[in-house]
Amino acid sequence: MKILLLGSGGREDALAWRLSQCPSCEQLDVAPGNPGMERWADARHDLDLGDLNATIKLAQDLGSDLVVVGPEAPLVDGLGDMLRDAGIACFGPDKEPSQLEGSKGYTKRLCAEAGIPTAAFDEVRGMEAACKALDRFGCPVVVKADGLAGGKGVTVAMSRDEAEKAIEEAGDAPLVIEEFLEGEEASLFALVDGETAVFLASAQDHKRVGEGDTGPNTGGMGAYSPAPVLTDELAEQAMRDIVIPTAKHLADKGHPYRGVLYAGLMLTEDGPKLIEYNVRFGDPECQVVMPRIAGDLGEILMAVATGKLAEADDLALEDAHVMTVVLCAKGYPASPAKGGTISGIETAEENGAIIFQAGTAHGEDGALVASGGRVLNVTAAGADLKEARDAAYVALDKIDFADGFHRGDIGWRELERH
Ligand code: ATP
Repeated sequence: MKILLLGSGGREDALAWRLSQCPSCEQLDVAPGNPGMERWADARHDLDLGDLNATIKLAQDLGSDLVVVGPEAPLVDGLGDMLRDAGIACFGPDKEPSQLEGSKGYTKRLCAEAGIPTAAFDEVRGMEAACKALDRFGCPVVVKADGLAGGKGVTVAMSRDEAEKAIEEAGDAPLVIEEFLEGEEASLFALVDGETAVFLASAQDHKRVGEGDTGPNTGGMGAYSPAPVLTDELAEQAMRDIVIPTAKHLADKGHPYRGVLYAGLMLTEDGPKLIEYNVRFGDPECQVVMPRIAGDLGEILMAVATGKLAEADDLALEDAHVMTVVLCAKGYPASPAKGGTISGIETAEENGAIIFQAGTAHGEDGALVASGGRVLNVTAAGADLKEARDAAYVALDKIDFADGFHRGDIGWRELERH
């Protein structure tokens, strides 16, 4: 089949790498892609991902059988519906179920209707209503902007002052104010084909820019899969109590979910609770899940897109542990330096590591240069997390990127437990 993969980050480079190895994938097109994805794809196409009509036209011109959507924005805008209306299979949900990521209020209401464990919450607008919610929950408390905010719309307020400041800044915009949950966070990835929901993998990431999980939030500085803290038993519980009821509720309402459902969980004393849903793979979590997929990913994604997951071959995962360390441009996240040259990728890959590319571009003289905040994802597998970590950092040392930096402690919490 012909697959068109949309997106240009490390997540999409990992998807492209894995899809290109599949017997089912006869032609892999990527748009807009990045220089790393040129290594795996048959062709890379210019595309403004915000232009949904141009996206449909590209898929039609290419004769794509399946479109795999990497980022959330086109899904929230309705690309899934448009592709399906045009008779093209899409890995990624329609506009309505994409509200699971597009609106925190939508997800919270769904949780309330379907009895899904999550933090207690109030949906409010303006200071007066918000203060009532603060009275209800006490401190710490969590204040969230309702819509997509690129990870910047959430304040975990330790004091009332801090909470009120976040509310004031939001003005009259809709907010979700919720109870603070204590526990460790883990990510669960499930595949949902409308009817069937199956567990794919667990992962944990590091959001803070600084070692020891300090400093400002980022898109993610590194990740590993599996996350042993999400034991088989807890994963089963989360599927039973959270993911499967969500899929069923959406299907019952006439809005079947088709794609990967990424549940951000808090593992509390009372079991896993839902913090958030995302309607696509995590970045950088995708980079550590893809190397673990044993079967034909193209066939699996097509089965998800067409409601045939129950008939698909086993979703077997390799037993390996995989880690990725994100190499960023200096100044990230506030003001990453652009244009720094990068070399040494091939040498770094000699011992089996894979360097997925994110914010990279072709420089004028053919050199690879940094074009964004998160530039490379140095990814390696091992029999356990320590082996994966050691292999990733050995590979990272071989990369020459003077304008870059990385965290040296990815996986520290899990490694300390051993
Ligand atoms: P991102 O896109 O960065 O994953 P987001 O903006 O969609 O995040 P959430 O995932 O809902 O927002 O929240 C961001 C972070 O805030 C969570 O990863 C978690 O660390 C913290 N957080 C959110 N809700 C709670 C809660 N109820 N209790 C404790 N911490 C919370």
